[in-house]
Amino acid sequence: MNRKYFPLDKAAVEKLAQQYPTPFYLYDEKGIVENIRRIKAAFSVFSGYKNYFAVKALPNPRILKILAAEGLGADCSSYTELLLSEMAGISGEDIMFSSNETPAREYETARKMGAIINLDDFTHIGFLEKTAGLPELVSLRYNPGPLKEGNAIIGRPEEAKYGLTREQIVSGFALLKEKGVGRFALHTMVASNELSVPYHVETARMLFELAVEVKNKTGITFEFINLGGGVGIPYRPEQQAVEYGVLAAGIQNAYNEIIKPAGLDPLGIRTEWGRTVTGPHGWLVSRAIHRKGIYRNYIGLDSCMADMMRPGLYGAYHHITIPGKEDAPLSEVYDVVGSLCENNDKFAVQRKLPKIVTAAEDAAHADLVVIHDAGAHGRSMGFNYNGKLRCGELLLRQDGSVVQIRRPETAEDYFATLE
Ligand SMILES: *Cc1c(COP(=O)(O)O)cnc(C)c1O
Repeated sequence: MNRKYFPLDKAAVEKLAQQYPTPFYLYDEKGIVENIRRIKAAFSVFSGYKNYFAVKALPNPRILKILAAEGLGADCSSYTELLLSEMAGISGEDIMFSSNETPAREYETARKMGAIINLDDFTHIGFLEKTAGLPELVSLRYNPGPLKEGNAIIGRPEEAKYGLTREQIVSGFALLKEKGVGRFALHTMVASNELSVPYHVETARMLFELAVEVKNKTGITFEFINLGGGVGIPYRPEQQAVEYGVLAAGIQNAYNEIIKPAGLDPLGIRTEWGRTVTGPHGWLVSRAIHRKGIYRNYIGLDSCMADMMRPGLYGAYHHITIPGKEDAPLSEVYDVVGSLCENNDKFAVQRKLPKIVTAAEDAAHADLVVIHDAGAHGRSMGFNYNGKLRCGELLLRQDGSVVQIRRPETAEDYFATLE
């Protein structure tokens, strides 16, 4: 069992909650930066390695700036994600635009910004040419269909809406070449939250083999291969994190076996990881406000699924700890819930936890509840159903100070679009 970390003790987080009322997200800059340096060290075996951080995972320009300072680019799939990257000073080919069902306007913005455009469909070659125009560098997204198994969150590639088939990849690159495109990249994204190293190595192997096939059939060579996102994090204490060094070594073996003999070396290796970069370094901090005992025992929080929907949406496990009670016996079984009028608004179901004190019972001693691994696909998946206002975001800086990097939403924000 791994002890789940939280960077503040009870006194420090209570003090923070006085200044910034709960609920709030807290991100740990030091944890994020150290993690990126581990990734970069492991992947330094590939010259020019770059991770384009998936902006959707944590779309805050203050965070993107920290990532950019560590050499990361941005993976965008919408107009506003492109603008967020721009706000963070990320531009040109440091942006990979991996969108799907893309409106013309978004291609135009991506082209203007000089982003690398990754096309999701064969027909988008002509669409891009007609609208924004074809850039000198184009990437295509591969969907292996029945040739690769997916996983629970993203589903089976065969049923996934993304990418081009194997035949379309070959004819797509041939067509791009014919149209005068001179630089090429190959991309895939076949799994989400996958902890298995062999799975990711197999994905790399599959792309390497495809790169050789495309070269043999069309004569083109790739500038880089983008392995996509999808590296998992150990949401459960008993799970093990992916060892970046082992993963990089596995990919390097496949590279040496397939890419080198085919004369395709040097070939750049890129990734689009989001979750594994920031996920373990963010938390949703809430206050327990109500206790309810009916057929089950419930603890009601001052946050809800509108702040973080993964548990409600996929039944995803997020570890929960109570500051000051980290070593207390797990004597209770609770459903930890939010206030939405939706019964899947549950952060945890039948979870063993220490006895929790709620604000309604004893305001002075009410417990804070920390939901772990909320640093990616957390607040960004939030919504406003039931008129709920999403909480703000705080950043714990490397010097130990805390700054608010997004204020909580207000009723005025919610009404701002009414005519
Ligand atoms: C969501 C997504 C990512 C990031 O996935 P993680 O699981 O956060 O690593 C990368 N690329 C594409 C195209 C995506 O849709």
